[in-house]
Amino acid sequence: MSAKIIDGKSVANKIKQEVAAEVAELSKAGKTPRLAAVQVGENPASRMYIKMQASNCDSGGIEYELIELPDEASQDELIAKIQQLNADEKVTGMILQMPLPPQIDARAVQVHIAPSKDVEGMGPANMGRLFYGGGIVAPCTPLAAVELLTQTCPDLSGKEAVVVGHSEIVGKPIAMLLLQSLDASPTVTVCHVATKNLAAHTKRAEILFVAAGVSQARWLGYNRRRKAGEEVSPPDLSPLIQADMLRDGAIVIDVAINRIPKGFDETGEPLKNEKGKNAMITVGDVDYEAALEKVSAITPVPGGVGPVTVAMLLKNTVACAKAI
Ligand code: NAD
Repeated sequence: MSAKIIDGKSVANKIKQEVAAEVAELSKAGKTPRLAAVQVGENPASRMYIKMQASNCDSGGIEYELIELPDEASQDELIAKIQQLNADEKVTGMILQMPLPPQIDARAVQVHIAPSKDVEGMGPANMGRLFYGGGIVAPCTPLAAVELLTQTCPDLSGKEAVVVGHSEIVGKPIAMLLLQSLDASPTVTVCHVATKNLAAHTKRAEILFVAAGVSQARWLGYNRRRKAGEEVSPPDLSPLIQADMLRDGAIVIDVAINRIPKGFDETGEPLKNEKGKNAMITVGDVDYEAALEKVSAITPVPGGVGPVTVAMLLKNTVACAKAI
């Protein structure tokens, strides 16, 4: 069997077109959505994310505003800024860029974002509505993962679905989204780091979501210990889910993004690229090439869930703007 490759980019483009049409309607009515992103301190990874947010908002007709607070900003200062944005009628949505500096407790701050402006759907009110069903928004990555599934397989009723990963931002909300229908949901099993015999669960999955990020976690752990002067051997960075752990004909949604070295030299140093930097690759949690021969459909990494996550952020932004 050669699997269907679920193309996240084309799904994302379609969602973005729909978003742009809705934004045009809102703008005609004088209600152009405006997204405020709050960044505390400097972080190269979130800089890239901000750039991507700004350009996506721009092409979708959404106004984008970046608010930068210094690295030493206190939790109270950040909460005061969030409250100011809550009260600002022009701002229809808000994003708090992660990670935050160590003096700030992300959870303690996130609760202050007005649920109607929480475009990432990660505050407790929107998470709670996900449990009950019928909220304005839900977290973007789980929405993206489930969208890619339902476009491939619209009838989930009674299917065996397994979710590997139970974080609050990915695994648990995926399970909740799958259980939204009262009479046509799949049967959902959630696996995690303490699951005994992971393969026994994944092998019976007709639908498999994987969001663990194991290879990257191993690489980062190794690098930390190596830099601290410990004598350690390079870790096994092979994917968590091997082909023999998959059911024939399964649909696989690989949510993970593992940024890892291509390999190591005999001294344990990552192999270098032509610029003398670590030669890095981006892979998911599933052995993609081997899985292609076994499953009926699979998302690639990159190019699967990632692009749709960005599109879902825009969709949530419009949903919040319409709800005001
Ligand atoms: P997390 O570290 O918060 O959670 C990891 C989860 O994996 C936990 O539930 C843990 O119990 C489970 N896990 C760890 N090792 C395991 C093992 N050996 N067997 C089974 N389960 C195991 O991570 P997260 O924030 O939920 O992210 C998960 C992955 O999804 C990461 O690779 C991350 O980069 C990716 N991600 C992708 C997007 C996207 O847009 N595509 C967005 C967010 C996160």
